[in-house]
Amino acid sequence: MKDLNLSPVWEPPFIQPHRIGEINKFGKRTHQDNITDQVFGVNVNDLVEKYGSPLYVTSEKKIRENVRRLKRAFERRYSLVTHGWSYKTNYTSAICNILHQEGSWAEVVSEFEYEKARLLGVPGDRIIFNGPNKSKRILQKAIREGAHLHVDHLDELHNIEAVATELSLIAPVTLRLNFDTGFTEPWGKFGFNLESGQAYLAAKWIALSPHLKLVGLHSHIGTFILEPRAYAEQVRIMC
Ligand SMILES: *Cc1c(COP(=O)(O)O)cnc(C)c1O
Repeated sequence: MKDLNLSPVWEPPFIQPHRIGEINKFGKRTHQDNITDQVFGVNVNDLVEKYGSPLYVTSEKKIRENVRRLKRAFERRYSLVTHGWSYKTNYTSAICNILHQEGSWAEVVSEFEYEKARLLGVPGDRIIFNGPNKSKRILQKAIREGAHLHVDHLDELHNIEAVATELSLIAPVTLRLNFDTGFTEPWGKFGFNLESGQAYLAAKWIALSPHLKLVGLHSHIGTFILEPRAYAEQVRIMC
């Protein structure tokens, strides 16, 4: 925010047509829509004729190329890498299936997404269960099915311990951490804070519980961070 005295005013969302030559809060639109004849080498008119409009088109070839390139980038430096497809990004079944064929696990953040991954044939032990909102019902299922639970907060840790106790199991858990890398605005809304000692408290709780086992650490420092040094620092801090 540029002017700190100006408190932001909430305004309800609205849809405003954006016409050529007119100025609105987004600035002046200067060009026509870029209409192409082809998408991924296929004629758009033919597609519209066959499937109707509006139509979303995805290239299976491009997805496969991209995920292979992504994995190679990590594997060149460290071979023990697993790629998880974030269902929230796009949970179209065909797209998820392509990624699972490429060996990607499912990364889910809700009961709906967990069930969806199972319906698509992903076994529990290839599902990473993230996010701040896991119901007790889905936790029971996920723990029984051996899913990788990434714990977001203390209440959730309590629920997982209760479910594991009920089921007479030891639940392996990963803690989601948040901390300051010094390069970006720290994110405090998800996970256990490192600097305040909250993450240490959670780790201690797990160590003392007969029904929990700490098997990993997770962190996501924020959305759209393009500063590589931030990720280097993230990894250093987690180690
Ligand atoms: C969506 C989401 C984020 C942010 O993900 P980006 O892809 O970086 O926008 C982070 N944590 C959780 C639990 C989320 O569901």
